Amino acid sequence: MRYLLKNSGKNVLQSALDARRLLPFAFVLIVGFLVAMAWDSFSRTRELLSSQAYVEHTHQVLYEMDAIQDGLGDAREAWLHYILTPEQQDLDTFAESSKQIWKRVARVEDLTRDDPAQAERVKQLQVMITDELKQLSDNLRTNKTLLIYHSPATDFKQDRVRNAVQQFKDEQETLLRERNQAAQARAQEVERSVSVRVGVFSALMAFVFVLVIRESKKLRIAEQAALHSQTRLEGSLQQLQIETESGKMLNELQANLQICVNAPEAYEVLGGYAQKFIPNSAGAVFAIDSSRNLMGVMASWGDSLSPTQHILSPEDCCAMRGGRLHLQVETSRGLTCRHFSGSIPEAYVCLPLAALGETLGILHISTEHSDQLSASRLAMIQQAGEYAALRLANLRLREKLHDQSIRDPLTGLYNRRFLEATLEQELHRSGRHHTGLGVIMADIDKFKVFNDSFGHTAGDIVLKEVAAMLRRSVRTEDIVCRYGGEEFLVVLPDTTLESVSERAEQVRESIAKLDLQHAGHALGKVTASFGISFSQDGVLTPEILLRYADEALYESKRRGCNCVSLSDSVTNLLAEKQEKDAPNPPLSFKIAQP
Ligand code: GH3
Ligand code: MG
Ligand code: MG
Repeated sequence: MRYLLKNSGKNVLQSALDARRLLPFAFVLIVGFLVAMAWDSFSRTRELLSSQAYVEHTHQVLYEMDAIQDGLGDAREAWLHYILTPEQQDLDTFAESSKQIWKRVARVEDLTRDDPAQAERVKQLQVMITDELKQLSDNLRTNKTLLIYHSPATDFKQDRVRNAVQQFKDEQETLLRERNQAAQARAQEVERSVSVRVGVFSALMAFVFVLVIRESKKLRIAEQAALHSQTRLEGSLQQLQIETESGKMLNELQANLQICVNAPEAYEVLGGYAQKFIPNSAGAVFAIDSSRNLMGVMASWGDSLSPTQHILSPEDCCAMRGGRLHLQVETSRGLTCRHFSGSIPEAYVCLPLAALGETLGILHISTEHSDQLSASRLAMIQQAGEYAALRLANLRLREKLHDQSIRDPLTGLYNRRFLEATLEQELHRSGRHHTGLGVIMADIDKFKVFNDSFGHTAGDIVLKEVAAMLRRSVRTEDIVCRYGGEEFLVVLPDTTLESVSERAEQVRESIAKLDLQHAGHALGKVTASFGISFSQDGVLTPEILLRYADEALYESKRRGCNCVSLSDSVTNLLAEKQEKDAPNPPLSFKIAQP
């Protein structure tokens, strides 16, 4: 709970101190303060001015009183002068002085009108001055001056006026002192208040300044963060674009791989896309041979950059050795592949193409700069390699399955199904190209007895050896198949009857010469009987051709085995044809006898 309170307190303080919230408040405070300061300064200045006006007023009263005193002095002097030496000038001076005195008295009266006590005193003074001046004026008129020169009444009146003026002046001076002090005090107060306000204002300004600095600092940090976020966002967008583009290309690659019907096509497709994935690169796609001893180039690009050998041993490539991607850039240490025919490129990558537990080849890419092999590109290459390897493995599996469906597992020869399909095609071709097509049917003699004597395994060995012998004895384009248990059939396209019978004879002899062994024991001699049929220009159907070959084979068996026979039907057909094609000499061939 305390923690919560503490935290909430902290939060409140934090939010209260939040510069953005405080700034408007501070501005309102400053404006309010300025208005209050202006108003206060105005009223204080007015007060100061009014106290100065009072001082000025007192100065004026004093000045006027001095002038009254001087006027009285002048009037008295003129009066005395006239008494001693009467002259008109003295009377004029007296009149003028009196006039000045009353003028000054009137001013003093004016100046003291607002103060009833002073006004009263001025009135008394006025009476006294009137009284004195009247006395003097009467003396001048009656010319009894000498008599009153030392009159106590005159002296009394003069002293009374002098004292009253002096008293009034003293009072005014006291008042002046007081007012001066008051004005000074007010001036000091104004000075102090100005200092305090300047201090407060400075503090407020400093506070606002700190807030502004803090806010601008926050703003700068926020700007930097926004900039950083923007940069990151741009980077992410760019990355997303690259990934989208990569994804599209990978999808395309996959689609293209799917429509490949054989491995060379798949290697070609992979090479093409690897070139697209890493522009300005060079490289090659290698396939491993069935012996797994050699690897050969199936596709390549940018030869000038790729000084790799075109045939290499799997152990020359580090990727093949390690069974995983091998990347070599300038900064890399470690092993370098040995399959370069020229200088080693700045950067390269080798990727084993492995799927379904089998390595089928390598994808090799070299570049001029290591930054061309970025992590995202390597990931793409790896993905492409996986797709290609899987497709290659599938194609290989398909080939294997297809092979299994058309081949005999014991001898590796084509099976009867394949033969029947192919024979028809070959006969059509023979018809189109007007060529001869021969069929040799072979059957191992007394094979049951052989099996019984040496066992089934030995019999299998014989079947394998005879099959190998047949394959070795014919041309690549000839089709050798296991037709039945111990029966074989060879289809020889584009040939003559002589060649077919010669070939049959050679095979017969070769089989008879076979020296077979099993488990360290000699298996004795094996012979086979042969039947030949032949079709010129594809005139016979597969069934008839095979029947004639079978007939000929039986003929050989009848003749005592280990011999070659030509079907009579074929002989008759060919004879008929030769007669038609006369004057060509009749076809002659020899049937070998054992
Ligand atoms: P002929 O000279 O008249 O041809 O006599 P043959 O014994 O060779 O002929 P037959 O048709 O009587 O016997 C064929 C034998 O071939 C029977 C069978 O045991 C054997 N055979 C068939 N297929 C295989 C096989 O795959 N392996 C082995 N070891 N023997 C087979
Ligand atoms: Mg048989
Ligand atoms: Mg047989």
